[in-house]
Amino acid sequence: MVPIDYRYCPVCSTPLIEGMVDGRVRKYCPECRFVRYENPLPVVVAVAVKDGRFLLIKRGIAPKKGFWGTPSGFIESGETPEEACLRELEEEAGVSGEIQRLIRVGRREDTELYGDMLVVSYLVKVVSDEPVAGDEVDEVRYYDASELPGYLAFALRDIVEEGGRAN
Ligand SMILES: [Zn+2]
Repeated sequence: MVPIDYRYCPVCSTPLIEGMVDGRVRKYCPECRFVRYENPLPVVVAVAVKDGRFLLIKRGIAPKKGFWGTPSGFIESGETPEEACLRELEEEAGVSGEIQRLIRVGRREDTELYGDMLVVSYLVKVVSDEPVAGDEVDEVRYYDASELPGYLAFALRDIVEEGGRAN
């Protein structure tokens, strides 16, 4: 799935056509040779831990609205991945954190909205007090490892096994 499907050249407004460019079928402009390269969106995830518990948010917007998950968001221009991670943690969960380490870099496909994503996950130690749900968040709270929803217990199994070593 492609989140934004360009039909016209963003440079000269000519309708784009499909054809082989650099070994792959891509959309391009027959007039000015603009090529619509498709790249994954860069996403950061904060696996935020305090006293061995995981800080999760209940998403208030798509994708996965209504589901509990780790604070996450897009890296903005000019930010390092670490800065974006801590900003998103603060915006969504109202707490400040310290990056402990990189957990992994992976690929995820969001079929609902954003398409292909490059996901950079960090283990973050929460260093401030009570969390506060951000604008796009319905609820925020800490979960014990044993009460994590199944899909998160699976995704976070490495961290759970090591006991959330950010403490
Ligand atoms: Zn063009």
